Amino acid sequence: MSYNIAVDGPAGAGKSTIAKAVAKELNIIYVDTGAMYRGMGLYMLRQGINPEDEQAVIAHCDEADITLKYEDGIQVVYLNGENVNAYIRTEEVGAATSRISGLPPVRKRITALQKELAAKEDCIMDGRDIGTCVLPDADVKIYLTASSAVRAKRRYDELTAKGQTCDLARIQADMEERDYRDMHRETSPLRQAEDAVLVDSSDMIPGQVIERILELCRR
Ligand code: C5P
Repeated sequence: MSYNIAVDGPAGAGKSTIAKAVAKELNIIYVDTGAMYRGMGLYMLRQGINPEDEQAVIAHCDEADITLKYEDGIQVVYLNGENVNAYIRTEEVGAATSRISGLPPVRKRITALQKELAAKEDCIMDGRDIGTCVLPDADVKIYLTASSAVRAKRRYDELTAKGQTCDLARIQADMEERDYRDMHRETSPLRQAEDAVLVDSSDMIPGQVIERILELCRR
């Protein structure tokens, strides 16, 4: 049996930063499930399909073959054979992705891939429905969150550090809208699993969050 840690939470809570560090510390793989959904979101944008048009998204989602590979320990998302890591991290792709990710045919395919991976590899997997749907029997479950003001400021700092100009209030509004959609959709909404430990990182530095998770794993 493989060892699995599930981390769920809203956008910008620091899930990927924390999960990457924990994976390194425990020498297990990090599975970023948002990146897989983003691969699908990117496919729809590239095809000129309106992410709000459910019928069109459902009709075309089987055309997108999303796979994960690990190259030098880094997760690479392949969309129909192309490495798309460089294109999936934009706010535009994030917003489109949260519009299509609630559709059952989209979730079915991506979830199957995640379960398969977790069954054969020791891993820490982050997303929205990992503790509730994908890995209900995970060894450790964390619900990582922070206030939306803190999460927006972190995203703002990240983007400005990359030289992008952006508007803090806009980022916060977009993030709140995306969280609302993720939490209120019918299929696998974002919520804390009953047996997940809540970690609010609003007043914590990454090292403290990492230590808290490692402590939960050691128990
Ligand atoms: O985590 P990230 O911001 O990369 O996720 C992008 C979007 O993918 C989320 O807003 C959500 O709609 C969707 N997602 C999901 N289930 C997951 C991971 C991500 O629905 N397990």
